[in-house]
Parts: sequence; structure tokens; C-alpha cells
Amino acid sequence: MALVASKLEPAQAMVDEVIEAGHGWTRRIEAGQVVRIVDLEGNQAVDTLFYNAADPSERYSAVDTIREQGNVYLSTGTRLLSSEGNPLVTIVADTCGRHDTLGGACAAESNQVRYALEKRYMHNCRDTFLLALACCTHDMGKRDLTANVNFFMNVPLTKEGGLTFEDGISGPDRYVELRAEMAVRILISNCPQLNNPCNAYNPTPIRILIWNGPLAAPGVAAG
Ligand SMILES: [Zn+2]
Repeated sequence: MALVASKLEPAQAMVDEVIEAGHGWTRRIEAGQVVRIVDLEGNQAVDTLFYNAADPSERYSAVDTIREQGNVYLSTGTRLLSSEGNPLVTIVADTCGRHDTLGGACAAESNQVRYALEKRYMHNCRDTFLLALACCTHDMGKRDLTANVNFFMNVPLTKEGGLTFEDGISGPDRYVELRAEMAVRILISNCPQLNNPCNAYNPTPIRILIWNGPLAAPGVAAG
């Protein structure tokens, strides 16, 4: 866990918007730009995928990222690698301390398996991803949904290597900051899940800020 605060000032951000609970969002981020995701009320799960903006068939690879850093948790210093082994983004600041990339995204199917058959019709991240892609891209769809990052989500491993979903370790206004290492498309589902403690059974809004490259100084260690 590497808690590092950012020096970037929200007043200087070129983008500052709130994504409501359960909503999706996608945008092209240029190389060198910095994106901050703020967990406004705490304990939210922010399901996120990254792609090479020029060629979405090159996309985030959880397995390459885990292997290269030798750790299953994401935090400051983690380089999120693509399926071609190239860095897509680097986590340059993090005031939460741990993010998951093992738990995957919720779906109509997993809602039925995990919770109950009648949960099939509840909102889920997979549908939110697809809606966001349908709105904003021409060439992306189901085939592009792969193992994702869950920012602010806590999925600790047991001693035996098992996965457990626990209450989040995030809190109000904690954030994670990402510097784009190439032009990337970022795709977010601000998880609408009502059946899982990952977001305290209560989906809440997040805030997205984006700064241009020259302002993107490295973060400083939190005092
Ligand atoms: Zn979800």
C-alpha cells in the first residue's frame, strides 16, 4: 500500500464532472494527460477498462500487469499494461491504497448465480459498459469487455489464495490518479450493484478530473 497525494489543483483541471451512481462514461485520454477518479462518498466500486485509442484490440491485461509488478493489488507506481505488454497508464497518486483487478465486473448472469434468479434484471456493470460503448464508439462492443480494474474495491486474498469480497477500505474524497502513457480510451461503469458489500450496498457518485500534460507533475508522498 503506497499512499501518495497529488499536487494537481482541481481549479486547473480541463475536465471536472460527476458520474452518478450506476452511470457509464468513456473518453479518449491523450498521452501525458492525468485523470483523477474521486470516490466522493466512499466505498464505491469503479469498474474500469483501458484501450489503445488507435487500436482497441490492444487493451488492458490484468494478468500481464500482475505478473510484471509481482503483486495482485494495484496502487501508486503500478503500470497498467496492455495485451501487447505496453504501459497504458501509470498510477501516479493514490489516497485509498489498494485497488482490485481480480474480481471482474458484475453482469446479469453473475447477479443470478451469486444472489438470486430474480436479480437478473437489475442494473449491472457489463450492461453499463456496453451502453457507454454503443453511445460513444463505432467499432467496440461485447468482444472488447475483458478482465477489468475495480478502483476502490477490496478483494483480499486468503492465505490459501482464495478470493474474498470485503467492505471497502476507501472513504469519502479518496482518489486515484492515472497518467496516460499513450493515447488511451478509458471506459468506466460506476457500479450500480446493490447486492455486494464492495460498495456497502449503496452505489454513490464519483468525480472525474483531467489535467493536461504540462501540469502533470509527479505526486508527493502523503504526510
Ligand atoms: Zn458492478
